[in-house]
Amino acid sequence: MEKLIFDYSSKGKGGVSLPTKSAGEKAVKEYIPESLLRKSELNLPEVSEPEVVRHFTNLSSMNHHLDKGFYPLGSCTMKYNPKINDKVAGLPGFADIHPFQPESTTQGALELMYDLEKMLCAITGMHSATLQPAAGSHGELTGVMIMKKYFESKGEQRKYILIPDSAHGTNPSSACSANFQTLPLKSNERGCLDIDDLRVKMNAEVAGLMITNPNTLGLFEEEVEQIVEIVHQYDGLVYMDGANLNALLGIARPGDMRFDITHINLHKTFATPHGGGGPGSGSIAVVEKLSKFLPVPRVVKNGTAFKLSDNFPESIGKVLGLYGNFGVMVRAYVYISLLGLEGIKSVSRNAILNANYLRVKLADKFLVPYNRICMHEFVASGDNHRQLGIKTFDIAKRLLDFGIHAPTVYFPLIVKEAIMVEPTETESKQALDEFVEAMLTIDKEAHENPERLHEAPISTPVRRLNELKANKDLNICWGK
Ligand SMILES: *Cc1c(COP(=O)(O)O)cnc(C)c1O
Repeated sequence: MEKLIFDYSSKGKGGVSLPTKSAGEKAVKEYIPESLLRKSELNLPEVSEPEVVRHFTNLSSMNHHLDKGFYPLGSCTMKYNPKINDKVAGLPGFADIHPFQPESTTQGALELMYDLEKMLCAITGMHSATLQPAAGSHGELTGVMIMKKYFESKGEQRKYILIPDSAHGTNPSSACSANFQTLPLKSNERGCLDIDDLRVKMNAEVAGLMITNPNTLGLFEEEVEQIVEIVHQYDGLVYMDGANLNALLGIARPGDMRFDITHINLHKTFATPHGGGGPGSGSIAVVEKLSKFLPVPRVVKNGTAFKLSDNFPESIGKVLGLYGNFGVMVRAYVYISLLGLEGIKSVSRNAILNANYLRVKLADKFLVPYNRICMHEFVASGDNHRQLGIKTFDIAKRLLDFGIHAPTVYFPLIVKEAIMVEPTETESKQALDEFVEAMLTIDKEAHENPERLHEAPISTPVRRLNELKANKDLNICWGK
């Protein structure tokens, strides 16, 4: 277990050498009012440079991360992030720019944004894009705000948005945040949207449908063309939650499926280290008739010069103060540029192959409710282990002892004891086989030694936490 940095501290040790006072230096209180000055010494640890480096290196490896091991967290696309992306994002011309710098000095950054929007349009088959939303969920909110504005511009007040029962929780919350009411749609026995339910619920009071494709079961929506058609018959808009775009790159485009709006989680599909709430970018792409509603400022090209323009009178306005998540855009740009069209196609093909490999290997011992060819992920269930007194939660916790991050669990809600596995394309066959081995060992333990599973994880720095207590008894006061 790593000690606190204060435990390494002893008086007089240090890792920096500061210049001695220069002549003519004034006292601090000549710059800062006395009332704002600290009254006692700042309690900082006194440690040497190697101690600092070792301390933080040790801390960083206590948590699981992608450079440490397999991370099959379904719906999150935790793929390996090529280091070249970070290298380019760290170039001074990108990393050190300020949002209020004159545009003449940020032409390269603006050009990158302009080109990235074009790339995303090409990949999604859409007319125009914005890079403003800072997360997928923020892209959803932006999308439904555009839906609202579209109907207002036609003098219509539509009340509802339809959302399948398999949807990610951010879909209904985005719709509600934009003052829509949500109506759930059922899934059918094949794990796809129940088209009859859609027929019953779609009418001229419904603004549209938010649907994930491939859906959260990792299955391609087989009747996508009819689904879109039904919504369009009432001039409704269809929003594709594009969090699963990692399955479609270079193979199928939301625009060709006649979706009206889609978001792209740049941090998922186009490789940025993410998790724990950031950093992200939830760019959205729209069809031509919705283009004028996109948020401002937009990057435009005048001759050979690029600028940020507010000159879109019908825009929904700003959804983010400044483009502070620019580094994510640079990473996506580098990632797409280096792979090219053939490369991104092989990303999706390998992601799909890997998921199907795992699905078939695990299906003997684990329940797979919709056991047919899947896309880039699949959903198993721990329900057949319930009778042994083992929950999905126990299986997830035990995996940590094998140095593997747990898959997404208990989502989607329509699968009992769900275990959602997304291997991504960056894992080798060996890594996948190790995961299978771990899962089969856990299955064996469930039969032979279930107690062990209840105690897991055993080898991690922190054992099983009381997650309920953390929610119910929130205490974020330092030192209490
Ligand atoms: C990740 C995800 C979202 C939300 O995206 P964030 O970037 O995390 O806000 C929405 N829908 C689905 C299906 C997702 O997997």
